[in-house]
Amino acid sequence: MKLHFLGTGGYHPNERRHTACLMVPEVGLVFDAGTAAFRIPGLLQTDELTICLSHAHLDHICGLTYLLVPLLDGRLKQARLFARQAVLDAVRNHLFAEPVFPLLPENLLFLPLEETTQIDVGPDLSVTHHPLVSHPGGSNAFRLEWHRGSKTLSLAYVTDTTVDGSYDDFIQGAQLLVHECYFSDEQIELAQRTGHSCVSMVTQLAQRVGAGQLVLVHMDPTRTDNNPVNITQARKHFRNVCLAEDQTHIDLKSLPTVC
Ligand SMILES: [Zn+2]
Ligand SMILES: [Zn+2]
Repeated sequence: MKLHFLGTGGYHPNERRHTACLMVPEVGLVFDAGTAAFRIPGLLQTDELTICLSHAHLDHICGLTYLLVPLLDGRLKQARLFARQAVLDAVRNHLFAEPVFPLLPENLLFLPLEETTQIDVGPDLSVTHHPLVSHPGGSNAFRLEWHRGSKTLSLAYVTDTTVDGSYDDFIQGAQLLVHECYFSDEQIELAQRTGHSCVSMVTQLAQRVGAGQLVLVHMDPTRTDNNPVNITQARKHFRNVCLAEDQTHIDLKSLPTVC
């Protein structure tokens, strides 16, 4: 079971990174559907998808429209879209407004997170969710849990938030923490003003919650260099951290791994 990083940047695509989209093809699970969602059809292993949206900002939803073809030609029987009701309403009424994108596939199902505490995505595999309050309009964190022998393993996906202490319990002990990191430490004021995180606050969080491995996503798209957030500084707090790159993957069955 592999987690694929299809899109690892924030805001807008650049020559190195498309915007937010993660996928576990073996169980048809997708977190966010940014511009990288055009890569989903090429990785399909199931005829159903479960898509969990953090929030409705365009860099996380615009790629939903790219699923029209596999939803119409039968490669996908259905896609279940889980998000807060306000996010689902925005997707239905604005992204799929007739002048914007005139076809809303019938087999795209809109399912409010408010009505479920746990999303089943396969045998012995479930996703829970938790609200994030410091991003304009709010966002949602997700946690995927599965079992290996008597052990419960987990992946937490947290994007579009400032590290504010409000979700430490939710991500406690995750073997793999995928967390946004839009800014370097010098930009802390901007991070707080825009509801994003800078690198040391994320690595301190990973250390605090006992994460096994930290992968940073949702980087500032104006930075296409190898070290956009000064990762060297970040490693002082938490050694097992790396920046995600598009079209790479992590084998969830062999966690914890060093990247
Ligand atoms: Zn974003
Ligand atoms: Zn956002």
